[in-house]
Parts: sequence; C-alpha cells; structure tokens
Amino acid sequence: MPTTELTGCSIIGGETVRGGAGTIHGVDPRTSSVLGPSYHQLGTDQLRIATAAAHEATSSFGNLDPSEHAQFLDKMAENIEAVRDELIERAMAETGLSRDRLQVEHRRTSNQLRLFASVVRRGDHRGVRIDPALPDREPLPRPDIRQRKIPVGPVVVFGASNFPLAFSTAGGDTASALAAGCPVIVKAHNAHPGTGELVGWAVTKAVQECGLHPGVFSLLYGAGSVIGQALVSDPLIKAVGFTGSRDAGTALMRTAAQRTEPIPVYAEMSSINPVIVFDSALDEDMDALAQAFVASVTGSSGQLCTVPGLIFVPEGIKGDAFATAVGRALSTTTGQTMLTEPIATSWTHGVETLASQDNVSLVGQGEPGPNKAAPAPAVYGTDLGTFTGNEALHREIFGAAALLVRYGSVAELKETVARMEGQLTATLHLTEASYDDALELLPVLEQRVGRILVNGWPTGVEVGHAMVHGGPFPATSEGRTTSVGTFAIERFLRPVAYQNLPQELLPEPLRHGNPWHLTQMIEGVITPPDSHR
Ligand code: NAP
Repeated sequence: MPTTELTGCSIIGGETVRGGAGTIHGVDPRTSSVLGPSYHQLGTDQLRIATAAAHEATSSFGNLDPSEHAQFLDKMAENIEAVRDELIERAMAETGLSRDRLQVEHRRTSNQLRLFASVVRRGDHRGVRIDPALPDREPLPRPDIRQRKIPVGPVVVFGASNFPLAFSTAGGDTASALAAGCPVIVKAHNAHPGTGELVGWAVTKAVQECGLHPGVFSLLYGAGSVIGQALVSDPLIKAVGFTGSRDAGTALMRTAAQRTEPIPVYAEMSSINPVIVFDSALDEDMDALAQAFVASVTGSSGQLCTVPGLIFVPEGIKGDAFATAVGRALSTTTGQTMLTEPIATSWTHGVETLASQDNVSLVGQGEPGPNKAAPAPAVYGTDLGTFTGNEALHREIFGAAALLVRYGSVAELKETVARMEGQLTATLHLTEASYDDALELLPVLEQRVGRILVNGWPTGVEVGHAMVHGGPFPATSEGRTTSVGTFAIERFLRPVAYQNLPQELLPEPLRHGNPWHLTQMIEGVITPPDSHR
C-alpha cells in the first residue's frame, strides 16, 4: 500500500505549490495508459519563491559542521529506503524499466548518498590549505594565508529520464551539490513525475528532521523550455547540473553564458562510447565476445549514456566471423519498452537515418517487443573510410542500436579516433599480443574520452572516489570533472583565501586547533587531523 499521497504539486521550501501553467501526467509506456495525479506546471512567476528560499538557505546550510551535514545526507538515504517498494512500483509504471533494474538503481541512490556523507564527515573536500606567516622572511615577510573551499550557492538540477532514481531528484547531481553545501532546486523530469514527487518528499522530510532551512531543497514541475530556462537565468542560481539531450544541454549552456553573471553548466549530453576490438581478441571465444557486446547494447533497452554505440572490428576472416556472431546474438533479442514513446520515436528516426546512409548495411536485428515503444534492437555495419567521412554516422542514437565499423590498420584507426568528438568512454578488447597497438592508441584516446576500459563493457558505472563519468564536449559541457563519484562535489565548490585574518574572524575550519578535525595541507604537506596547527 502506498503511504505517500501524491499531490501533483511542486514542493517549494517544504510546502506544496500548485502551478497555474497547465498540467502533465505520467504515462505507462508499456500500455500508453495515463497515470494520476495530474501534475500542475509552474509558471515563471512562481519560481522566485524557490530561488529566494534557496538563496536564504545558502549561508546556514553552507556552514553546517561536518557531522550535522553528513547526518542530513544519511537521513535522505534512510528516507528513500523507507519508501522503496512504492517508489519502485511507481518508477516501473512511469518508465517501463524492470523491477530488477530499479532495485539496483534504488540501492545505488541510497549508497551514493551515504558515500557522499562519508566524504562530508571527513571533510577533505573543504580543501583546507595553510601557509603560516613567515614574519622574518627576507627580503619580505610572508603573510598568513589560509584557503578553504566554499559552496558556490544554489544549484539547479535537471533530472535524467533514463535514471529515474540514481540520476534524478536525489541522484548524483543533487547528492554532490548538497554534499558541497549548496541548496538544490530540481526541475522534475516530466517523464517520471510521481517517482520524482515520492523522492521529493523523502528529501523534504530529511530537511525537516535535521532542522535545516526549508530552502535547502525544492522540486519544481514545469516545462524545461519555460521554467528550466527561467531558473538558469535567475541571478540567485549559481550552477547547473544536467543530464539529457545535446539540444537541451547546449540551450542551457547558451542561457548560462548570456547572463550578466555567467555560471557553469555541468551537462552530460551525448556519447557513442567506441569499443575497439583488436585482432588478438578474436582468437578468444568470439561468440562470447559478440554476446557480451549485444548484451551491453540492449541492456535497459540501450538507454544508458555509456552504451557502446560504436564498435571497431578488424577487416579479414576473423572480423567477418565476429560480425556474423554479432548478427546471431542479436537475432535472439527482443525489444524492451523504452522510457517514453517520444524517445522510442526518436530512436526509430535515428536508426532510419543510419540505415539510409551510403555503404551502411544491416549486421543483425532482434524482434520487436510487445508494444510500440519497444522497437527491435539493431546493429549496422560499414567500413572505416565511410565512417570517417560521414558525420551522420557519428551521432548518438539513444537506445539499443550500434554501428560496427571494419578497420584495416591501427594507424588508420588512430587517425579516425583522433578526429572523433569527445566521449564518455572507450573500451579495448585485446590480449597481450596487441599491447603495442594499444600503446599507440592510448594517448589519442586519453585526449578524447573520460574513461578507458580493457576487456569489459562501459555500461555499469561504479560510484566511487576514482570514477570519471565525463569527457570532452559533447559528452559533457565541461571535461575537467565528473558527474559520478565523489570528485563530482568539486563542481560546486569555490576556493577562498584569507590573508592575515585574526583567529576570531577566520571561518571555523581554518582556526587554530583544527576544530573540524579536517585533513589540511600545511606548508604544502598533507597533514592528518590530529597534527594540527
Ligand atoms: P531532454 O529532452 O534533453 O530533457 C532533459 C531535461 O531538460 C528535461 O527536464 C526537459 O524538460 C529539459 N529541457 C528540454 N529542453 C529544454 C530547453 N530548451 N531548455 C531547458 N530545459 C530543457 O532529454 P530526455 O527527454 O530525458 O531524453 C531525450 C533524449 O535525451 C534522448 O533521446 C537522448 O538522446 C538524450 N539523453 C541522453 C542521455 C545521456 O546520458 N547521454 C540521458 C538521457 C537522455 P521538459 O521535459 O519539460 O522539456
């Protein structure tokens, strides 16, 4: 039995606010049936209540001590776990994703909040650096300089359609912004409004239980091109996190850059995640390799940002046999329901465009699924020259489709890869016999991608300290960071130096005695919390 009553309203500073700009509703993509309640879309005039509340919350939330701050993130995780069953039911109905997949995603959502809590508790991200005064230094004395990182201020997050839990209302962007100490306003994804609201109340409850300023979190329903744009234009907003299409991401980048005070947009947009199969990999179990590739392309209906949409395979007999094995593996697949009918339609257009290009032919295809939002997975093939010369073959097709490109030499492949757009990942399949070839390619790949894998598949992104889920444009708008893992906190922090401030005026984490027990860099040396100055 559901315990949370869905209101169909936005949540602003802990209160429900009913929008006056029309309504939308969830749709079950498996049956096309409408799911209640109707969600009232906000108009731009109502946004300022949320941005003003977030602005007001900035100072108190940004200066919470580490244990209170971490407790809040833990409480969010606890509250999201408490509504697990109703959340998974609702997310299944709104997205067509399977129970198994959503159970994993639910666990990932609470685990990542707890991981961020552990980082906040340790406080390393506060980046404390102390260069003590050297009054006797010749020829000039050195002042006392202390640095710490502060939260940038209110952040707007656009939830992703393909991760209704782990990358939406309380997903990676929200978790990392809150961990940095920034209030968050989420623009709810209209493809899973009820899922968004359930999580929204779990977060709101955590804000209340921890006695925080109610402006720390708001969840707004409305059209992206209207309220999304207005939020990003609002002078009180200081940064943006986004996952979605290249068109929407670049529209937001333009808006942010045109403000009187431009702000950073951390947008994750489009990537085709090349896989490079070296000749040596085809001496192994070729069928197993082909099946694993097809499983990675078709899992979650291919609606993953890291789906391998491009695979380079050597010319020759072994490569021919691998292509045949891919076709065989595909013929056993069936289309799974995609997130929304428009996303399925967009996939179909993408595949039709791919299929209509010169020198492109079908490698293999599965069966269509049980409804019109479940098209048949497909892989097409071409040669390296055609791929290199035709930009249409480089575009992301969001869903279960891929292009298999035959290459003659690693030198030619290297030239092609060097000219490709930025990607989230690149994957190499090889044995030791191809290490020299791989060493040729790696420096080029490093310039083009955020994560390089060997003998694995890029789908399935580990949330940890070392992960990079990023890459040069258009994989993301800012290739110097990540949207998954604890390093993501850095996106929402800014360093401030304090020169010669008396102890009484210094912020607590920089004072003598290290009252927040943080690891500090003193005179360039990393110093654990117990050896303070
Ligand atoms: P989307 O159309 O980019 O929408 C994402 C979010 O941005 C939504 O909240 C949307 O709000 C908002 N938005 C759309 N246009 C906007 C604009 N001009 N200004 C401000 N906000 C705007 O993505 P989607 O609906 O989730 O999926 C559609 C396509 O995105 C897919 O077919 C795929 O190509 C791509 N996608 C990529 C990834 C990835 O990880 N690389 C993940 C998901 C989707 P409204 O819905 O209210 O317009």
